[in-house]
Amino acid sequence: MITKGLEVVSQNYIAGEWRSIQGEGQAVFNPSNTLEKIGEMYLSTAEDVLEAVAAAHAGFMIWKKKSGSEKSSYLYKMADALEQESEEVATLASKEMGKPIGEMLGEVMRGVNLLRFYAAEGVRPTGEVIPSTDADVLQYTKRVPLGVVGIITPWNFPVAIPIWKIAPALICGNSVVWKPAEHGVLTATFLMKVFEKANLPKGVLNLVIGKGSVVGQTLLEEAEIHAISFTGSTATGKNVASACAKRNIKYQTEMGGKNAAIVLNDANLEKTVPIILSGAFRSAGQKCTATSRIIVEKGIYPKFIAAVQEAMSAITVQEALNNQAYLGPVASKAQFDTVSEYTQLARKEGEIIAEGPLKTNQKGYYIQPLVVGGVSAKHRLVQEEIFGPVATVLQVDDVEEAIELCNDSLYGLSASIFTNNINKAMQFIDNVEVGMVRVNQETSGVEYQAPFGGMKWSSSHTREQGQAALDFYSQVKTCAIKHQF
Ligand code: NAD
Repeated sequence: MITKGLEVVSQNYIAGEWRSIQGEGQAVFNPSNTLEKIGEMYLSTAEDVLEAVAAAHAGFMIWKKKSGSEKSSYLYKMADALEQESEEVATLASKEMGKPIGEMLGEVMRGVNLLRFYAAEGVRPTGEVIPSTDADVLQYTKRVPLGVVGIITPWNFPVAIPIWKIAPALICGNSVVWKPAEHGVLTATFLMKVFEKANLPKGVLNLVIGKGSVVGQTLLEEAEIHAISFTGSTATGKNVASACAKRNIKYQTEMGGKNAAIVLNDANLEKTVPIILSGAFRSAGQKCTATSRIIVEKGIYPKFIAAVQEAMSAITVQEALNNQAYLGPVASKAQFDTVSEYTQLARKEGEIIAEGPLKTNQKGYYIQPLVVGGVSAKHRLVQEEIFGPVATVLQVDDVEEAIELCNDSLYGLSASIFTNNINKAMQFIDNVEVGMVRVNQETSGVEYQAPFGGMKWSSSHTREQGQAALDFYSQVKTCAIKHQF
């Protein structure tokens, strides 16, 4: 049973069947109201993972023989099913990890669009003809699948991230074993229930719920898989990369960020401030692309601070299912504890420039958003990924210093500049060390049809989404046929 009354119970989906997970369940509570139980999480063993991988091998043998348009039609069915149940999926996900319902609905629709985008890839070219030096030889390339792909996902985009991995993996002809994050297991179970309606052949798409140290580790070290696509923290990503490198299996790791927004003297503050605050505080700052450093040119600094202080009164913290919520709680007790350490550090060693109001009486993992100044560029608040609603402000003399500070980070995921000076915008685009460069836009919100990924410690230098994802989920065969022989 996936639902027990109004509660959802985590289950595995292996070889086209639902499997109850043995052992003791753990209650899952709503981070917006920690008195409300929303379901139970059961955790799998290493044996469950191996069973799912065996099923995926059987599924791969069937799936790899399907034509591109046949695979397309399954992905279109998955998209239609998700669109039909978008409100149910968004409501559950919102209750499970605290993202405001409006944003969560947007995330689900991104998932629908991603499924349709990759469905269309089923009828697009999968290679190119390369002229041979021999007139009697036809030389061409073709993409072929990798085999069984392990997909390990975080909790912060519990719908869109799994889909932006599963959809390109499937359209390229791979079968999948998906391990979602512990704080997204109910959403994952429900999402699989939705995808079941597409009637994929047995074993093509499998779900295994469990801990990273058990299910994730077994996938990395023991299971007979051909590739891993991982999104999560840089610390875990480093382990994923070294485990895969030892086995020589293909991997991609999309990891943390410490994204900067630069505000130059000529920026239009009326437009800039709401965009920066949205980048910093939507989803309670729990986006890998969230704005967490704001670098401001000194000529506009006083006016910028005044505008931020005024705007922060509208950045209210409320229950995730309240339509008025600008941000909800952070996702879990663990998140609450980690982010609270940083807010305490900010209050002790920094200067609080502005704070958004808390507007709820519920008991939940609420953290008031903070804009912090008075710290150096080397301070922990400026260098470490906080992954919560805290943004630090730094003042600089000119665009050169701004770019230098922007690049003074282990991470290189996303960065923005706010200016109408095309020369300075181009100087930023040319010199900034990030994968996603934005002018007069949020650091987050990159569109699904464009490549997504970072430089430095934000990524394994691969890219997701758009057509770039097809490069990861396939390998290229170069074929040469001598036809006059
Ligand atoms: P996390 O690294 O703790 O967990 C990510 C996934 O890895 C989870 O499914 C977890 O169970 C699994 N895992 C943990 N230990 C493992 C192990 N030893 N072996 C295999 N798998 C293991 O990250 P999180 O807290 O879930 O997510 C937040 C992080 O994700 C942040 O750092 C954020 O920046 C990053 N993130 C990056 C992107 C991106 O595209 N670059 C997108 C979203 C989130």
